[in-house]
Amino acid sequence: MGVAAEKEKPKLIDEKGLRVDGRRPDELRPIDMEVGVLKNADGSALVKYGNTWVLAAVYGPREAVPKHMTLPDRAVLRCRYRMLSFSTHERKSPAPSRREIELSKVIREALEPAVLTELYPRTTIDIFIEVLNAHGGTRTAGVTAAALALADAGIPMRDLVAGVAVGKVDGIIVLDINENEDMYGEADMPVAAMPGLGRITLLQLNGVLTPEEFRVALKLALQGIKRIYDMQKEVLRHKYAVVEE
Ligand code: ADP
Repeated sequence: MGVAAEKEKPKLIDEKGLRVDGRRPDELRPIDMEVGVLKNADGSALVKYGNTWVLAAVYGPREAVPKHMTLPDRAVLRCRYRMLSFSTHERKSPAPSRREIELSKVIREALEPAVLTELYPRTTIDIFIEVLNAHGGTRTAGVTAAALALADAGIPMRDLVAGVAVGKVDGIIVLDINENEDMYGEADMPVAAMPGLGRITLLQLNGVLTPEEFRVALKLALQGIKRIYDMQKEVLRHKYAVVEE
């Protein structure tokens, strides 16, 4: 196959209505979650959405260095999202890219409404997100992993936060898009929410949707998020279950 042919947009929905990886439009990738995977962090989580693997580590609340970065009435939440060099098809430069800096901010803002920062004035809470393997949806898997790591660190939260990206491929609205669907689809829309409180904390849209398609996509995203949120709760319950009931 020539280079030009390789770059042609592949068919994203087959004649049976299934996607490139065999999923139905409303199906999540196989999701796996584990908490407390790192011995030296206060809290940690490893989250896998298919071939997207993300590790989150949380430190804090701890005394801030430098001190002038602290706030008198609440903790400062800091977040660093990074894609490891071996996480992509072609080796990614280890230097922080503009995309990584932007995603660090987007993810922090998705998590901040959930954290009771007012309980820990003059401290920082640091969140490190490392993408081990990238295959679409790393920011939303990052939010899911970081929320679990915050909970694992024992940091009080109003609710958990979970995320998933929806998209439009070959005219169909689909849940939890993978890298090919992100690259060749008509639209991709990452969403994160606190399902228990009914609040959306991240919503981005690349590409084009009609208002009706947007409504369908958002509904599908929130349904997916609820399923991921239930898995988060189950994983935490399993680790921290109190024996007496
Ligand atoms: P997200 O990972 O949240 O979907 P993007 O839409 O920016 O964020 O990226 C979509 C996918 O494209 C990523 O998950 C990853 O698989 C791939 N990708 C992004 N940036 C790079 C990069 N610098 N090198 C190789 N692949 C990348």
